[in-house]
Amino acid sequence: MTTDDIQSAPRDSMEFDVVIVGAGPAGLAAAIRIKQSDPALSVVVVEKGSEVGAHILSGAVIDPIGLDRLLPDWRADKDAPIKTEVTEDHFVFLGPAGSITLPNALFPKFMGNHGNYIVSLGNVCRWLATHAEALGVEIYPGFAAAEILYGEKGEVVGIATGDMGLAKDGTPKAGFARGMELRAKYTLFAEGARGSLTKTLIKNFHLDEGREPPKFGIGIKELWQIDPAKHRQGLIQHSFGWPLDSQTGGGSFLYHLEDNQVAVGFVVHLNYKNPTLSPFDEFQRFKTHPSIRDTFEGGKRLAYGARAITEGGWQSVPKLVFPGGALIGCAAGFVNVPRIKGSHNAILSGIQAADSVVNALHEGRQNDELVGYEIGWRYSAIGKDLFRVRNVKPLWSKFGTYLGLALGGLDMWANQLFGWSPFGTLSHGKPDHATLLPLASVKPITYPKPDGVVSFDKLSSVFLASTNHEEDQPVHLRLADAQIPIAKNLPKFGEPARLYCPAGVYEVVHASDGQPHDRFVINAQNCVHCKTCDIKDPAQNITWVTPEGGGGPNYPNM
Ligand SMILES: Cc1cc2nc3c(=O)[nH]c(=O)nc-3n(C[C@H](O)[C@H](O)[C@H](O)COP(=O)(O)OP(=O)(O)OC[C@H]3O[C@@H](n4cnc5c(N)ncnc54)[C@H](O)[C@@H]3O)c2cc1C
Ligand code: SF4
Repeated sequence: MTTDDIQSAPRDSMEFDVVIVGAGPAGLAAAIRIKQSDPALSVVVVEKGSEVGAHILSGAVIDPIGLDRLLPDWRADKDAPIKTEVTEDHFVFLGPAGSITLPNALFPKFMGNHGNYIVSLGNVCRWLATHAEALGVEIYPGFAAAEILYGEKGEVVGIATGDMGLAKDGTPKAGFARGMELRAKYTLFAEGARGSLTKTLIKNFHLDEGREPPKFGIGIKELWQIDPAKHRQGLIQHSFGWPLDSQTGGGSFLYHLEDNQVAVGFVVHLNYKNPTLSPFDEFQRFKTHPSIRDTFEGGKRLAYGARAITEGGWQSVPKLVFPGGALIGCAAGFVNVPRIKGSHNAILSGIQAADSVVNALHEGRQNDELVGYEIGWRYSAIGKDLFRVRNVKPLWSKFGTYLGLALGGLDMWANQLFGWSPFGTLSHGKPDHATLLPLASVKPITYPKPDGVVSFDKLSSVFLASTNHEEDQPVHLRLADAQIPIAKNLPKFGEPARLYCPAGVYEVVHASDGQPHDRFVINAQNCVHCKTCDIKDPAQNITWVTPEGGGGPNYPNM
């Protein structure tokens, strides 16, 4: 059977009112809201993780505004994995040897965390999934949406799940099964940051026309069990400064959950310029700071993972709707960057899109544009949340950490007090893939060796992501031009994929006696689906596509 034969082989097909791609907070909120509004509507959710929550990685301190709207009685639900209210909230500037805690009074009220909760977002999604299923939503974990189905007029009419059982060379193996077509009157894309189908939709429907480029960070996270004597349930701390230089945006989070667990993570803005920067190593170095390492000494690292986070905000949100469907949650990019929060807006956007879908279906419409959702979001709680912080990221990118954050603070105060910004709405500048400087013009960064106590190497870290892919399958990291990594990226930038990938997927094997040429090696089975390579590759030569469903990390409670 050739690849053409496989692609033209018929697929089983199922019809639904609504298909939702992705069982994160956005997708599950949309599914729940649709069934709450009209139990007769049929709703299916496909999820590429082996189970709901397996691919969810977040901080997470959540603002309950979304849950309060979706499930107003959630506080009375004993099964809700939302137990730890924030009790102490610190914002810290780190220097190489010391730290300064900034007074909370410096920040506008909306930056506070009073009334917010420290959670595992993966566990919140598992719990939301039980609500959705109880309402009659069908959830298919282990199925990746690999293809968009289009109707005769170019409208979206559903998705197809990926084929299972293809060998590396694309030929069918024993047990090969063609993917399924899930057809719908409306399809909601809730793939999170840099969704693979979302990227295609944005291109096909020109959804980014007139918008600023999307912006991203990479967030790397570990979950620790720490010495109970050092644990302060409810404490959260954010930091900026060391180990990043003042021209590189980013910072850390450290959240004390229940059961003596601490979630610690580090975000590096992907518009960084130095190609020798390694976000993974910055994170490891951060934990060695004198004011940080004590928390982890004597503790045990339980889990590791990474995920891109959207940072473009108000000015980068694409058009959300197209004939037959809509983007919701971080597929659209609803993270409030200075608050490092997006899950509340993911839920709110799921609710808003769901309401538009139900109205449309009740009017007898299908596969058209959900105009109400597109018009409504900027005037909704999501729009209010993003509008007042819209200049923080551009100011940080333009003026660096010290001046940029000071100006960002002033701008947020002006927005809180007067509903106005002295800067108007600033532009983000270049897309993240275009910000690297040539190797020859930067000072190379060198990183200390991991100490094996609080800092670790990449391979032992990836082991804790429990990532697993069937090895004999087509590589899901596709190079448009296989020559570019060695011919262009290596001489100009030192092939930065080796460093920005938090899972050690990309390697350059240098020429030696046995190997006459340098080779670019892709260890696809290690991939944790963070999507950073798809975003940051300077040649935009790498495209992340869905591997076989169920492949990828198996996060327990990230
Ligand atoms: C390091 C980090 C820290 C963060 N901290 C916080 C915080 O403290 N508070 C907060 O509120 N927010 C935080 N966020 C942001 C928050 O996690 C996101 O805003 C939120 O998860 C977005 O929800 P979503 O449903 O849109 O997408 P996601 O949570 O990313 O869920 C998308 C789901 O879709 C699935 N999927 C994707 N593509 C496909 C496909 N083609 N087929 C099938 N399934 C697919 C994925 O496997 C995943 O399960 C953080 C993010 C990061 C990365
Ligand atoms: S290969 Fe790409 S998506 Fe996978 S872990 Fe590395 S950077 Fe992330």
